[in-house]
Amino acid sequence: MDIQNLIIIGSGPAGYTAAIYAARAELKPLLFEGRQLGGQPGGQLMLTTEVENYPGFPEGLTGPEMMANFKKQAERFNTEIVSDDIVEVDFSVRPFILKTENKEYKANSVIICTGAQAVWLGVEGEQKYQGAGVSACATCDGFFFKDQEIIVVGGGDSAMEEANFLTKFASKVTILVRRDELKASKIMQRRSMDNAKISFLWNTEVQEVLGDGNRMTGVKIINNQTKETSELNAGGLFVAIGHKPNSDIFKGKIDLDEKGYIVVGQGNTKTSVEGIFAGGDIIDYIYRQAVTAAGTGCMAALDAERYLSSKE
Ligand code: NDP
Repeated sequence: MDIQNLIIIGSGPAGYTAAIYAARAELKPLLFEGRQLGGQPGGQLMLTTEVENYPGFPEGLTGPEMMANFKKQAERFNTEIVSDDIVEVDFSVRPFILKTENKEYKANSVIICTGAQAVWLGVEGEQKYQGAGVSACATCDGFFFKDQEIIVVGGGDSAMEEANFLTKFASKVTILVRRDELKASKIMQRRSMDNAKISFLWNTEVQEVLGDGNRMTGVKIINNQTKETSELNAGGLFVAIGHKPNSDIFKGKIDLDEKGYIVVGQGNTKTSVEGIFAGGDIIDYIYRQAVTAAGTGCMAALDAERYLSSKE
């Protein structure tokens, strides 16, 4: 069996950027774009509509267009792309072993860019109106909600941050909290409470996202104490109830933090296993942007290149 120099797992901005850099350094990377784990090839950008904040594209472009460009650029430098999921890894042997459902691969180094996925509410209408009012990223989509009333769901730091950010555009932001207190840090709580455009509905859960068939128009909510239901009109619903890193297959194989994100060194992309690197949202629950993911994907390729040449 051939031994690959470098296998990259994941096809979001981090994976493809790692591939572009590694391929141009003549490492002949093999990239697994994934089929079903963690969403789909292309990662979370496949779920967004317009991307206006990726530098270099002054007119903006759609998430899927952007990922098609990333892929094309990786292929231009002879990245071999495999349309399959890695389902099992053995990082305790050298070369490392990576398995798909029905094939085994060996590699001298690996870059993990499997990303994360937003946790959704799982209520009726939520999926239908994704990209048509329903979003999980205020930084990405907030701009499209100028002068509209917006609902944010969640009680953590993400929900507070998203709500505050959204007040730049929205006429009003209502935060729905399922308990009678917030989980967010005190400073973030204070910032939201002090913001005149933000109000809270406590003990409140979304039961259904309502719409006119094309766009969402509001939500049906329930007070989980009184069991009273009502409808709330809004042009947007931002779900901020956490993210889940796609790291299940790495449990016990490399160090993960308590939330399941891969732990890397300070200012580099080295994991706890020498020769295994990680970039993108799988190492980052704070910034979560295409451009930051691309940045750490680039770092991972440079780290891998350095590692491989030190072993020659
Ligand atoms: P968290 O897990 O901290 O908070 C999730 C929130 O969503 C909780 O309030 C939780 O409620 C609520 N929730 C979960 N499921 C549901 C549901 N089905 N319906 C309604 N509400 C629900 O996630 P975050 O994304 O907010 O933060 C993740 C990490 O990132 C944290 O460590 C946070 O501190 C950090 N972060 C830091 C920032 C900063 O410092 N600037 C910005 C953003 C994130 P409950 O409280 O009842 O469990």
